[in-house]
Amino acid sequence: MLFDTHAHCDDLRIENEFGSVEAYIRHQLENGVSNIVNIGTNLENSRVSIELSQKFDEIYASCGIHPYDIRLYDDMEATLLELRKLLAIKKVVALGEIGLDYHYEDSDFGRQKEFFISQMELARELDVPVIIHDRDAHGDCMDIIRAFPEVTGIFHSFSGSYEMATELVRRGWYISFSGTVTYKNARKVVEACEGVPFDRILIETDSPYLPPVPHRGELNHPKHVRLTCEKIAELKGFSFEEMSRITRENAIRAYRINL
Ligand SMILES: [Zn+2]
Repeated sequence: MLFDTHAHCDDLRIENEFGSVEAYIRHQLENGVSNIVNIGTNLENSRVSIELSQKFDEIYASCGIHPYDIRLYDDMEATLLELRKLLAIKKVVALGEIGLDYHYEDSDFGRQKEFFISQMELARELDVPVIIHDRDAHGDCMDIIRAFPEVTGIFHSFSGSYEMATELVRRGWYISFSGTVTYKNARKVVEACEGVPFDRILIETDSPYLPPVPHRGELNHPKHVRLTCEKIAELKGFSFEEMSRITRENAIRAYRINL
């Protein structure tokens, strides 16, 4: 039974293709997926994640403001006040995804940092795990993480180096691997994975993004987390069954879920 620690089941493309998000989730749960954390990237879809977690025992929610979605909010303080209310709701297991994304040069990096730091402060105050989105921003992400030693959580779809993974593990973080670990050019991610102890590894799809091999070019689904688990089992020298059990236990620990 596989725990997909990071998916966006409420994505519009899923709804367009499958009609109902509920039917879609039921299909995933009937195909080897035991649990999913549905991830918020803004206030609106954080609320949708909470609704899904209330409809399905197997679904948990995260709430947070992604670096792309900060443009939706002029007033950061008012936004964080709303976010704080959502984080108090049952089955909300993390603050995220939050972080930095320097991929598009026209985005406001200063404001991304402001939102990231303020959400780290909120996580520290509320003592909740965070989910980090870090794209092309490893240096600045690590600086902010080092400034908050009390805050830990999950580095999602890890793309950093072996050294970065090792430092994060030492600081108490979990490292989550997505379908990118199956890609042909994945040498750096594979190397990082080899450096992470088995009890700190999580698996995720980030669906509908990042489909693993052989599904590249398609929409991704939580049931494809099996392919990432198979690859990591091979890298870490476990059987598929062992790796799925280990990563599920790790997810329960990382998200502090009381089953
Ligand atoms: Zn995501």
